[in-house]
Amino acid sequence: MADRDLVFLSPEEALGAIRSDFTQYPPQTRLFLDLYTQVLGPGWTVIEDARNEDLWITSPSRRKRNMRRISVRDFGELLLNALNSQKPELPKLAGLCELIFQTRAYPGTNGSGHCKGIWIESGMQAFQCRQCGRCCMNLDYRFELTHADYELWHQLGRGDILEWVAAFRRNGEIVSYAIWVYPGTRQYAPVCPWLEKIPGSAMWRCRIHDVKPEACRQYPASRKHARMTGCPAFS
Ligand code: SF4
Repeated sequence: MADRDLVFLSPEEALGAIRSDFTQYPPQTRLFLDLYTQVLGPGWTVIEDARNEDLWITSPSRRKRNMRRISVRDFGELLLNALNSQKPELPKLAGLCELIFQTRAYPGTNGSGHCKGIWIESGMQAFQCRQCGRCCMNLDYRFELTHADYELWHQLGRGDILEWVAAFRRNGEIVSYAIWVYPGTRQYAPVCPWLEKIPGSAMWRCRIHDVKPEACRQYPASRKHARMTGCPAFS
């Protein structure tokens, strides 16, 4: 199995990945309903309110008539808080990862054998980019530029790229970045300025492919990530 197909996460990283999954996509009602008994334990009742797209919940300590309404997003937050306070054992955490990331996951140790955690199959071996450009046009990575990306462009003398980057400073130190900002202005470009259509085809290409930001290089992180964000690379 190639490196990109198998990812090792420490328990803390696995919990962080679950948080990212719960918060980056539209609320995942079905998923939350499938896993809440594993996370919260017995005695909880959760009912969908189809009219309002909310949930009704009651904890073991409350009577059914005391059910309260909660948004799906807040219910996800309740599950995350429960997970973080429980710090589940690795087998349970692996089972949750399988359900949440919709791929095989199992407990193990990292390559050096020093750290226990979860191995997750990303399913990326079947990835085949169609160069449809949907990710570049639809996803918002405006604030995802890393310091390493910025430094690399400096080292390579890529002033042509850097002039599209806004660096925000505090006490003289750069604390964050924004891309892609029209040079000399504070106005964001509607789409990435390095995306161009391949003449005579329906495909697109990136004009800075070899040095594109890490967020672009890492996309999609998994089959689920692709499916949830409209990437057809696995279809
Ligand atoms: S959306 Fe997927 S298939 Fe389309 S360009 Fe992006 S990575 Fe490639």
